[in-house]
Amino acid sequence: MGQKLSCRVSPEHVLFTASQQGDVEMVEALLERDPSLLSQTTVYDKLSALHIAAACGQIQVLSLILDRSVHPDLLNRHKQTPLMLAAMHGKIECVQRLLQAGANVLMFDSIHGRTCLHYAAYFGHSDCLQAVLSAAHSTPVADSWGFARFVNVRDGKGATPLHLAARARHPECVHMLLDNGGLVCASTSGFGCPGSTPLHLAARGGSLDCVRELLAWGSDRLHRDSSGRIPYMVALKHGHGACAALLNPTSAEPLVWPSPLKFFSELNPEAKALLEEALMEANRAREKDILKGTAYSSPSPEHTDENLEDDTSEGEAELCCICFDQVCTIEVRDCGHQMCAHCTLALCCHNKPNPSSSTTHFPTPVCPFCRSNIAQLIVARATKITEDPSKLRRSFRRSRNFSEGSSSLKGLSSAMGSFGKMGKGSGRIVDGGDWTNKP
Ligand SMILES: [Zn+2]
Ligand SMILES: [Zn+2]
Repeated sequence: MGQKLSCRVSPEHVLFTASQQGDVEMVEALLERDPSLLSQTTVYDKLSALHIAAACGQIQVLSLILDRSVHPDLLNRHKQTPLMLAAMHGKIECVQRLLQAGANVLMFDSIHGRTCLHYAAYFGHSDCLQAVLSAAHSTPVADSWGFARFVNVRDGKGATPLHLAARARHPECVHMLLDNGGLVCASTSGFGCPGSTPLHLAARGGSLDCVRELLAWGSDRLHRDSSGRIPYMVALKHGHGACAALLNPTSAEPLVWPSPLKFFSELNPEAKALLEEALMEANRAREKDILKGTAYSSPSPEHTDENLEDDTSEGEAELCCICFDQVCTIEVRDCGHQMCAHCTLALCCHNKPNPSSSTTHFPTPVCPFCRSNIAQLIVARATKITEDPSKLRRSFRRSRNFSEGSSSLKGLSSAMGSFGKMGKGSGRIVDGGDWTNKP
């Protein structure tokens, strides 16, 4: 107390506090007086004002500093860049601004050898993940490394961003990474149990939605880690009964997102969303039987028959001529024939192929009406995308005779269950955010 007069707060400390709190005027005033303050760092973690602003989401301070030609890739004690910290804390505006300033997406920290993509995936910030992925398309990384290699970049223990997202229970990030070329078959070297695939780690984390996503993308339930365990055994060991039920090799195979559609470059995004929805819905219907014996209760509301209304005022939409059950939502180009999302999937879908035959090519699907090659799938014009897809449901199933229009597809499509809203991500468990958390 007696030293009050001699005790003086250093200007860099004021700068760090102002950066943390977003006090732009203060930051500006300090830098006017002494621009060299920007090279100062905190004593222990070696955090610069740019790191602090990025981690705290102080976009105005961050922009102010970047406008002063500060390099965006400053390193702290752990060789973390401001971009990594912004991605870790989900500060999307700062992520975007740093990328715009040319921040390098392919820097590795010294703790786990992780990139900003690992951070975004592990902490479940899908918006930041998307921003980094989009940026990677146009940065030098894409030229030097290739985009596909970047998506599957490994940390010091051989974990890809997909491994981390699966382990940390973030189904949205899992989905996004798969959609961008994340490999379901990649094995870790040291993360988790060595030799773990993303499916092993999803089983370890216990997220049913992550398991669903990976299975729907063709993840192999029989893949063994280096201890010889399949994902089913990992889920059992950690007490995730529902995940174990889906992963049990003796339970029914899930429908897999069709290989011909995976790299269907002409697949219209809206049509793709409808098809994905139909696939997940079909798998949920299959799961009902599988999960019956477990204590798991569905996080999404059940589609009971009470929801079925004979509302014929929705008469504009045409009924699918294959199943006579669902409304036509997908149109085939160039012929213009229409069918429902379920029948479209049934057309291209196959159950999980034998891993040994996974290299065999899949024939291009053809239109079931005219047998012409499918060049493109789009959302049928008559379809009104309402807020609640169940509104489009029609209860023709009882009034129509199924013997008419018998088709080899009918069995498949009717086996796929009903179309409706899929409560995606509703079972999501928010991760605590302890980033030193070990597998
Ligand atoms: Zn149909
Ligand atoms: Zn046709």
